[in-house]
Amino acid sequence: MPLVVASRRVVVPRAAGAGGAGAAEAGVAAGHGLAVVPACVVIDGARIREVRELGDAESAPAAAALARELRARGEYVEVHDFGDKLVAPAFVNAHTHLALGFLRGTDMRRVAAGNMVEELFFRVETKLTDADVRAFVRMGAYESLLAGVGLVWDHYYRAEHVALGLADAGLAGVVAPTLQDLAGPGMHAWEAGLAATMAIDDDPSLRERGIVAALGPHATDTVSEGLFVRAVELAKARNLPVHAHLAQSIEEYERAIARHGASPTAWLARIGVLDAAPASVFAHCLYVDASELGLLASKRAAIVYCPYSQLVFGFPARSGAFSAAGARWCVATDCASNNDTMNVQQELRYVAGQRTAGVGFTEAHARMMAGEGVLAARAVWRERTRLYAEHDADAAPEALLSRVWSVPGALHPKLRCGEISAGALANLIVVDLDHPTLWPAREPLEVMAMADAAPAICGMLVAGRFVGECGDFHASVTSSPSYREARNEASGRLAALNL
Ligand SMILES: [Zn+2]
Repeated sequence: MPLVVASRRVVVPRAAGAGGAGAAEAGVAAGHGLAVVPACVVIDGARIREVRELGDAESAPAAAALARELRARGEYVEVHDFGDKLVAPAFVNAHTHLALGFLRGTDMRRVAAGNMVEELFFRVETKLTDADVRAFVRMGAYESLLAGVGLVWDHYYRAEHVALGLADAGLAGVVAPTLQDLAGPGMHAWEAGLAATMAIDDDPSLRERGIVAALGPHATDTVSEGLFVRAVELAKARNLPVHAHLAQSIEEYERAIARHGASPTAWLARIGVLDAAPASVFAHCLYVDASELGLLASKRAAIVYCPYSQLVFGFPARSGAFSAAGARWCVATDCASNNDTMNVQQELRYVAGQRTAGVGFTEAHARMMAGEGVLAARAVWRERTRLYAEHDADAAPEALLSRVWSVPGALHPKLRCGEISAGALANLIVVDLDHPTLWPAREPLEVMAMADAAPAICGMLVAGRFVGECGDFHASVTSSPSYREARNEASGRLAALNL
């Protein structure tokens, strides 16, 4: 049954420079411009069938006319007119491990001086059962939905149960079963991981919920050349992306030098992994040089920048260097244990903050602190001017939103999302621009990039299905019997783990 969603403010893609406030600004990658227009969105099953822009027409009569037209063709149609509310793409979180939300609130200072992944995660992850993973994923999925995230790229062990947890909560996802054969809690289960990838890819009921597969080699120090090559071959055979961590720790970097005589990025290039799959998505890329960023850009590999997570486990990457190299990059949360939220829209404030965040750590600032006076102070301002210019184009509202909408939405060859256009997954949020967190919202895209959008979400569709009730979105989800059961089960399982 087709569904018509109408509004006087629908966020649609525009070629950069083709109109829409600020679309011609530098920093909006070609094809990532946006416009806010009156439109009707026709949704058929999980996907958007058609977007009909309405010129200056009122949305209600135009939606009714479109519904009559569809009914005349023998299609029963449900119409939802949202008036002046903003209808925008749901956010895309391009890298997370939802199950790890059970570690949120753990005191990370105990492991912050060392390797958090090896010293904390690997140790507790060996205790988890299939049912634990499914229960913890559900909680992360609900948290994501409540923040307006419609699709996550999840990377984890026992991944069939990740997919089931997503489906339970109604969140779409690209699920990568974590593959390891050299180290880590999954090192004896890589064959099961490959089988899980194929099972998820073959499952029509998951596909219909917007849940698809990716190949998930864990990282360059936990995966052998043989397993990397095998993952890429399967990715090619099934038209799937490869989703891996890359250059995320000093240990990984040093191991690559010791084992292969090459950095993690150079080694992947040497064994043909950077660009052999239909799409390649690499989280973090902290320990890279400028020429390696150029290599990633030339191979069309995507970099996933997770600023708040990196602040905890490593250090925040310099995203201006990604842009300077011409690399394709998007923004994600990584896991709640070291973030501590799944609200990917709030990461954008840190991205914009890169314009000035580095100034207090420059040589000029150190000289000012040492008492060198006004000349040093002037040098501090020069540094501020330089860093601001390096990151300013990336801080434009449409450039920011492209990192959580169109760029990650275009990474899976079988599933497009993050954009309101024909053929994309029907993942939409309905936003009340009069909500106090967004008011006065004179520039809707500006507030969607930089204010706190989550409390203002009043309705949501994922894969063509409504989540909760429109008008009472958050309370209808958290008061639902399915959410309460999910929380009770997750709390019980967490207590039983006795961490
Ligand atoms: Zn990760």
